[in-house]
Amino acid sequence: MTLVQPADTRLAASVDRSIQLIQTGKAAGSTCSPDLAKGPWEFDAGPVAYGPGSSMGDVIPTGSPRQGALPESYKTASDAELHDRIRAAKATLGERVVVLGHFYQRDEVVEHADFVGDSFQLANAALTRPDAEAIVFCGVHFMAETADLLSTPDQAVILPNLAAGCSMADMADEESVEACWAELEDVYGDLTATDAAGRVPVIPVTYMNSSAALKGFVGRHGGLVCTSSNARTVLEWAFERGQRVLFFPDQHLGRNTAKALGVPLEQMPMWNPRRALGGSSADELLDARVILWHGFCSVHRRFTVDQIAQARIDHPGVQVIVHPECPMPVVDAADAAGSTDFIVKAIQAAPAGSTFAIGTEINLVQRLAAEYPQHEIFCLDPVVCPCSTMYRIHPGYLAWVLEELVAGRVVNRITVSDEVAEPARVALERMLAAKPPASVAPVDSGRDAPADAPRSTVEA
Ligand code: SF4
Repeated sequence: MTLVQPADTRLAASVDRSIQLIQTGKAAGSTCSPDLAKGPWEFDAGPVAYGPGSSMGDVIPTGSPRQGALPESYKTASDAELHDRIRAAKATLGERVVVLGHFYQRDEVVEHADFVGDSFQLANAALTRPDAEAIVFCGVHFMAETADLLSTPDQAVILPNLAAGCSMADMADEESVEACWAELEDVYGDLTATDAAGRVPVIPVTYMNSSAALKGFVGRHGGLVCTSSNARTVLEWAFERGQRVLFFPDQHLGRNTAKALGVPLEQMPMWNPRRALGGSSADELLDARVILWHGFCSVHRRFTVDQIAQARIDHPGVQVIVHPECPMPVVDAADAAGSTDFIVKAIQAAPAGSTFAIGTEINLVQRLAAEYPQHEIFCLDPVVCPCSTMYRIHPGYLAWVLEELVAGRVVNRITVSDEVAEPARVALERMLAAKPPASVAPVDSGRDAPADAPRSTVEA
């Protein structure tokens, strides 16, 4: 597990500052929305929506959590005042609180984090602080749920802004997945019956970026969770036990990983929950090896093959590394693809003077550029467009939840019911126990990946 401790260089990489400079004409460049310069509370008070950023065009489910009004003093405080209030509250709380900051979170929040990492790294990091009464998760809703699954019952997991959901996680809701499962039963028959090789018709696999309810669903149906780091191992585990896999919510991670394992694209039909049998025929589903849910991350969908071509023209010798949530043509055109952890390690391992174009959320890219000045590191997408929901966490909300804790009040607590938590933990335990079968050789299809970096199309 790689956890990055907060570094002094972090604020030099501020995406917030870049946005302000661009929008006031003091720096070149463009942003995807003028609203990115506003405080997130301006959107919390309006209609329920993902807000400015990569997901602003996505349809938000009705009934999505909304954040109540943030007290005025947090909205009007200067950056410096919020910084000092957060530090003071943390100092008062001491070991009673642990603050987790996701890689994609803004630097003005990350600088206060005790741990910085991806969602599963952070949930595990919280396990190292069993005496903390509160875990403040500066990330999005499903991440706070995962932390609640893994924390002790006495620990309160807090999401500073309840509007920080995840548009991709929202694309697969429990009701739609249950309906899909019932339709698959019509096609495959008894979903618990095994063939001569001892395999059931279909194993459900959910990406970590999904609700606890879906983690519980796969736990109840013999499936498991995967991360972008272990998706290959998880699919191999599933293929040993099932004739095929139902993979949700991210079609791209599923397709990229299955393709690296040699599954033909013709055997990866897409499941559109708004169409009968997901839009495929029964024969296509019978022939399927991986059924891909119709979900995607709007941050990673912004990256294109044309951007890669342009980066290669503008920066001869550039190494292009993208996240496996990117569309398949982008992953294929890149030099390497892998999780955020993979990207960080590739940069760490590179000789000084390397040039990287990175296809992942811009807060992480700008932070890496500041932390590794011996390299040239830039975001593959020239338009500044952070994750809409990570954006909803602002230092004002962090100051608020911490000062409420100082006053003895827990606000914005995220809890997962025991009914959901039990099978969801089973699905997570299966993931941790999954090992790649000895007979399967690693795939290495990365082109010109950094010499000492892990080399694979999708990190295993
Ligand atoms: S980057 Fe994508 S997957 Fe991650 S929280 Fe944002 S929308 Fe969800």
